[in-house]
Amino acid sequence: MKTKDAEAKTLTRFIEIYCREKHHVLALCPACADLLSYAGKRLKACPYDPKPKCKNCLTHCYLPAYRDKIRAVMKFSGMYMIKRGRLDWLFHYFLGKG
Ligand code: SF4
Ligand SMILES: [Zn+2]
Repeated sequence: MKTKDAEAKTLTRFIEIYCREKHHVLALCPACADLLSYAGKRLKACPYDPKPKCKNCLTHCYLPAYRDKIRAVMKFSGMYMIKRGRLDWLFHYFLGKG
């Protein structure tokens, strides 16, 4: 459960960064809020324990449109974190620990 909580936190942070940098709004825009809500539901319903990283998962429970969106968010915000030396967040992202 702890891992899912950590992943939910990472998900939220990464979508917040993506929206702020790409959509230039202070709060989440409707599209990003929708993505976060969708990803949160998928995470809660995930049948795996321990849970693999979604990008390595063979089930791929995301609908294709959402999968594309979350991939774009993870890539963009992952790079954003690297550029700012936020290795603590990258640790969550790549290893799913926390
Ligand atoms: S893609 Fe796989 S790992 Fe990710 S939430 Fe869905 S079932 Fe779980
Ligand atoms: Zn947005």
